[in-house]
Amino acid sequence: CGIVGYIGQQEAAPLLLKGLQRLEYRGYDSAGIAVLDGVRCDVLGGGMNDDAGVRVVKRKGNVASLGEALAGSNGAVSGATMGIGHTRWATHGDPSDRNAHPHVSADGQIALIHNGIIENHAALRVELRKHGYEFVSDTDSEVLVHLIDHLWKSIPFMNFEGAVREALSIVDGAYGICVISSREPDKLLVARNGSPLVIGVGEGEYFVASDAAPIVEHTRRVVYLSDGEMGVITRDGYTVKSIGNIVCEKGLTELDFDL
Ligand code: GLU
Repeated sequence: CGIVGYIGQQEAAPLLLKGLQRLEYRGYDSAGIAVLDGVRCDVLGGGMNDDAGVRVVKRKGNVASLGEALAGSNGAVSGATMGIGHTRWATHGDPSDRNAHPHVSADGQIALIHNGIIENHAALRVELRKHGYEFVSDTDSEVLVHLIDHLWKSIPFMNFEGAVREALSIVDGAYGICVISSREPDKLLVARNGSPLVIGVGEGEYFVASDAAPIVEHTRRVVYLSDGEMGVITRDGYTVKSIGNIVCEKGLTELDFDL
């Protein structure tokens, strides 16, 4: 239902939580966030800890109860300067903690949030099971994170972006996705086909959301992805490409309305 993402120098979890609050008006049944340490900012202190994988907190219920879970989690997602957040409106699998997004690969190194419906999820699930993948949720979305993991590990010289691109060429359906991985930290990958996605362009920081509501308080400069496009976002900039890997020249839109 709702997607937010952040990469920059600020602490990600509070920004993501606030972003999810801005998306509450759309309705949802569960909420969750995942963060990745990547390069830590000096202000936050601490060393690099890329082996730790992604850190996830997700819950059935509202954003306020996710906030309480975060507050009571002993800093489970603190100190990270990039991450993703989701409000779910269940289409496949009942509203529950385990069906909430983000969904994570078995090794804990990839986290994904998804809006929409993967139509060929059942066939993909059968194929992935043959390769030893086990499913911990009933969602169509979980198929996508295991598919990315499988393609990344099984195709020689594959990288994060390539694996996401390959996976998207295999799935049928509507999606807006945002993916992070500790195998290639400091990178936020987004893509859309039928579900809206906006990139907010700040100074050395970028915001992602399924609509502009969570972005406008941070920046008015945005890029709207079109169907079949993918964004590769780092702290140094972003590139928009087609899922077929052709670079798209995208203009910035300057949003102009009162908060
Ligand atoms: N189809 C996915 C699910 O049921 C995503 C639903 C949504 O867009 O929130 O988990």
